Amino acid sequence: MMDQQWMAEQLEQLKHQSQFRKITTTQAANGAAGHLMRDGHSLLNMSANDYLGLSQHPDIAAAMIESLQADGVGAGASRLITGSSAPYARLEAALAGWHGCEAALVFGNGYMCNLGTIAALAGRGDVVLSDRLNHASIVDGIQLSRAEHVRYRHLDLEHLESLLVKHRDARRIWIVTDAIFSMDGDAAPLTELVELKQRYGAGLIVDEAHSGGIYGPRGQGLAAELGVSSAIDVHIGTFGKSFGVYGAYVAGSAALCKWLVNKARPLIYSTALPPSVVAGTLCSLHIVQRERWRAERVRAAARKFRHSLDEAGINTSGRTDCPIIPVIVGSSDSALRFSKQLEQHRILASAIRPPTVPDHTARIRFSLSASHSELELDEALRVIKRTAMETEFADE
Ligand code: PMP
Repeated sequence: MMDQQWMAEQLEQLKHQSQFRKITTTQAANGAAGHLMRDGHSLLNMSANDYLGLSQHPDIAAAMIESLQADGVGAGASRLITGSSAPYARLEAALAGWHGCEAALVFGNGYMCNLGTIAALAGRGDVVLSDRLNHASIVDGIQLSRAEHVRYRHLDLEHLESLLVKHRDARRIWIVTDAIFSMDGDAAPLTELVELKQRYGAGLIVDEAHSGGIYGPRGQGLAAELGVSSAIDVHIGTFGKSFGVYGAYVAGSAALCKWLVNKARPLIYSTALPPSVVAGTLCSLHIVQRERWRAERVRAAARKFRHSLDEAGINTSGRTDCPIIPVIVGSSDSALRFSKQLEQHRILASAIRPPTVPDHTARIRFSLSASHSELELDEALRVIKRTAMETEFADE
């Protein structure tokens, strides 16, 4: 076997820098979304992206079981061969209608969707202008595309405009952004981005991974909330977060979806999702639209949670009603310590460290769910404030 000493050495180095990561097995809490079991105890799960609490919804489970029995356990082939099971067509039609677009296309997951879509749309001679804090899957998609990759300062419209001017002779210019930034909970200025893209003739790709389900009159995302949906060229969304299931989609023109069917390699060269997953997502899409109280509830809870921490002198960032509530701690060490202390009080809130976030901005990312009760969140706030005082992370 090849000498693997280099791996062991570098892993040691990661440990030394508090950047070593390991996988921990989790145990569901008997159907209670927003909770996990560990060592026989129930923990409040403030680390998941299950914002609407749909991951344990009985109707979705029933739709999946029904499909398992009717369609089998696996797709058996890629979508272009024989893997496009019946639930796909139903889900894609529903997604297109929901977004008011001509067409939609379902991908295996959000990572594959960003990777495949961006690499298929941009190419040599093009420029992709990307917010500096965009998700890794966007960054990787741009790298793979061979287009020129230019990052603009986070949310900085002036910087973006200067780059649009500078690159106006490119074959095509794409602007790509997360709608809500997953580690900061802040929102992209989509209205202004639409103005800029129209002024400079650029294409605009918006990743609604953390805003889908939560914003918009029917949960379509932040672009719909702001009334600029029809101006966006490429809508991307994921099903593993608010939808509680798994997968992702692109919505846009019929030409866009046909192009991606022919050019998006993660779609072409990978086995289709199991039919039950697609059927479960279709059921989830109906619930997202029907049970809007879930989004209203988690948005109200986020406002209250942020306000309460801010009042206690604990600085949070992000849009006031966004269920992602980061508390910047500074060093990776302090973030890990803070997170461990919270866990002793049965609160699971992950420490997010570089390289996921910029150096010296390690943080605790509190993530709320419509499944968390008011009582549980009040108790969590008490524990967080007390722990923050004890650890004095603010001094770092
Ligand atoms: N886009 C964003 C903004 C994300 O945060 C994530 C997941 N963390 C993805 C895409 C990838 O989605 P998935 O988990 O479905 O692969």
